[in-house]
Amino acid sequence: MTSATMLPPAASKSAYFAPRPDATMLAIKKLEAAPGLTWSPQTPVPQIGPRDALVAVTHAGICGTDRHIYEWDAWSQSRIPIGITTGHEFVGRVVAVGSAVTRTAVGQRVSAEGHVGCGICEPCRTGNGHICEKVDILGIDRDGCFAQYVSVPEENIWPVDDAIPDHIAAIFDPLGNAMHTVMSAGVSGRSVVITGVGTIGLMAVTIARAAGAGTIIVTDPFERRLEIAKELGADHTFNARDESWPEAARRLTHNQGPQVWLEMSGHPNGIRDGFKALRNGGTVALLGLPSKEVTLNLAEDIIFKGATVLGINGRRMFETWYQVESFLLSGRLNLAPIVTHQIEMSDFDRGLKLMQAGDAIKVVMRVPH
Ligand SMILES: [Zn+2]
Ligand SMILES: [Zn+2]
Repeated sequence: MTSATMLPPAASKSAYFAPRPDATMLAIKKLEAAPGLTWSPQTPVPQIGPRDALVAVTHAGICGTDRHIYEWDAWSQSRIPIGITTGHEFVGRVVAVGSAVTRTAVGQRVSAEGHVGCGICEPCRTGNGHICEKVDILGIDRDGCFAQYVSVPEENIWPVDDAIPDHIAAIFDPLGNAMHTVMSAGVSGRSVVITGVGTIGLMAVTIARAAGAGTIIVTDPFERRLEIAKELGADHTFNARDESWPEAARRLTHNQGPQVWLEMSGHPNGIRDGFKALRNGGTVALLGLPSKEVTLNLAEDIIFKGATVLGINGRRMFETWYQVESFLLSGRLNLAPIVTHQIEMSDFDRGLKLMQAGDAIKVVMRVPH
């Protein structure tokens, strides 16, 4: 099944109403500086400012970032304020808008970009708000979407095409990350290696295939993920633990190495081996986040190789959203093997444990109303 239009229709718009100003809602919150997340049924509904929209969330995707917050790793401890509502991937219906909102209407089905830029710095004013130094991210710096309602600035709202089903509309955000990586590197007519195929790596495989990549080579330590990558159009897969894969990858690409490398593992060995494989003059787009500093042979890996190295952070607002939409509407992305689980919001703990166990790729929660 590859066509977005073959999937179930979106929920009807009549089911969602504006809550009373003093209403409470279900939310999933980080309430303790320890592993876990808390089911919080008495959370106040967020207030909206004049430029905000209040969205009744119907579906929310669980991201690797949410898993970091759940596990309370070093990054989360340094970044996440206690008391925050988590989650940043969602779709829902607008139920109320502020007095200065002009283009967003109650009843509209929408998703939203989770990066709220300052709007006035140089990156924000030149279309690079995703790397604004003062960016506030939904579910990280401000209350997120693992809740019945979320407040979002109107300029972050993304109206969703009717042909895109809810469980796919909820994951525009990670699809945008994958899209940004693939499109920045430029894969059309070129050989590609993707190191690390978790959720975003697998999304990159189907996007690269749809974008006209040549030979696609994939590495990962998990055989099941390699099998899914093949299903999505990868030509050759290697276990990342097999240190001879860069040699094999060179043989498969006219003995010169892949022209493009999408790094999505964040693992020091993946990064080391990827540089070995990359062709002279090749381009690498780095998306995977290493948990600590990584050693590079700068002379051999980058300078003598004449490599182009791109750092990829988030999504371009809103270029990648338009790209994701048009790829989805073209029917050429295969996301069925990637969204492995759809669960009820109250089952969030099971969803996170399925991700930890490697049994789930993407989990989408249904939010009750
Ligand atoms: Zn995410
Ligand atoms: Zn800014």
